[in-house]
Amino acid sequence: MADSIIYGPVPSWRLGRSLGIDLLSTKGKTCSFDCVYCQLGMTVRPEVERKEFVSLDRLARELKTVEGIAADYATFSGMGEPSLASNLGEAIGLVKSALKLPVAVLTNSSLIPREDVRRELALADVVVAKLDAPNEELFRRINRPILKCTLDDIAKAIRLFRGEYQGKLALQMMFFEANRDYAAGMAEIAEPLSPDEVQINTPLRPCGVSPLSAEELAAIEREFGNFQNVFTVYGASTPEVTPFDLAETLRRRPRL
Ligand code: SF4
Repeated sequence: MADSIIYGPVPSWRLGRSLGIDLLSTKGKTCSFDCVYCQLGMTVRPEVERKEFVSLDRLARELKTVEGIAADYATFSGMGEPSLASNLGEAIGLVKSALKLPVAVLTNSSLIPREDVRRELALADVVVAKLDAPNEELFRRINRPILKCTLDDIAKAIRLFRGEYQGKLALQMMFFEANRDYAAGMAEIAEPLSPDEVQINTPLRPCGVSPLSAEELAAIEREFGNFQNVFTVYGASTPEVTPFDLAETLRRRPRL
């Protein structure tokens, strides 16, 4: 399928066989951040406002082509930040009824301060929210936000979302040299957000920074001793999957 919105399934270390739904589907990355470790390269389409990138009609047509596909989750991700799509909430409903799969959204958390975004994210079964920095200075250095927001705004909004949301909230943290020594601070920031799960990651796919070792990640994990479900990328196993369209998949995920 050329220029498809749906890609994968990809092997995900926390979601198993993850069928990707890309509500942005732009040629280059469209994001409200420009993270230094991003596997998609530079944010060539900086965006801070929500809008429609692909129509629900187009999504509905493509969903018909993947009915019955073997996957564990339908996951909103792709060429940038999915909550920039103003039709995210309706799209989640459409995907759930068409595929009968649980729905996950991977978000960079930048738009969670918006009430409409929280309301739409709450329709997903799993929300994986990014949190990479324990302070404002590192937040600016690592995530390079384009949207005018502070780490404090985001942390407060995730906490608010937690209070409203009945589904599974995971915090995903990317660790590398810049924040390697800040795990205790990250645990402190995460505690009041009461996540169901903490996912400790390091950039294993090609990007602008080097990954930490398994030993370094294990030391970071020890700082999260007060949390119930803590997983690290090195400890996880990923399933074997064959994407139905390799080119469209590699565009969103340069290495499976
Ligand atoms: S939020 Fe995700 S897509 Fe956006 S720049 Fe960061 S890693 Fe890349």
